[in-house]
Amino acid sequence: MANLTALTRGGLSWIPKFLQSINKDTCLGCGRCFKVCGRDVMELRWLNEDGEFAEEDDDDELERRVMVLANPEKCIGCEACARICPKRCHSHAPLPA
Ligand code: SF4
Ligand code: SF4
Repeated sequence: MANLTALTRGGLSWIPKFLQSINKDTCLGCGRCFKVCGRDVMELRWLNEDGEFAEEDDDDELERRVMVLANPEKCIGCEACARICPKRCHSHAPLPA
């Protein structure tokens, strides 16, 4: 089976590359990728001082926020998030052949 192929408005084919992961070690939590994505795929989460995910109302010491892949099933594979990211945090791939 070939990779999923989509069509542009003009009928040109292209292969969507779906968001696989976001590197939390390099993410600045700037929110730029969130703003360009119209599909509710990502969300900002807190990390505690041990680098673990934490909730705002936890007793943990909150350190910084990073973007995470929250709803991968909603991604359309446009790669806009990767183009806007200043730290090249996003990894994308087509659906497996
Ligand atoms: S590839 Fe497109 S749809 Fe998927 S997360 Fe990035 S901006 Fe959103
Ligand atoms: S654009 Fe890059 S650095 Fe900024 S929140 Fe998104 S993944 Fe993190």
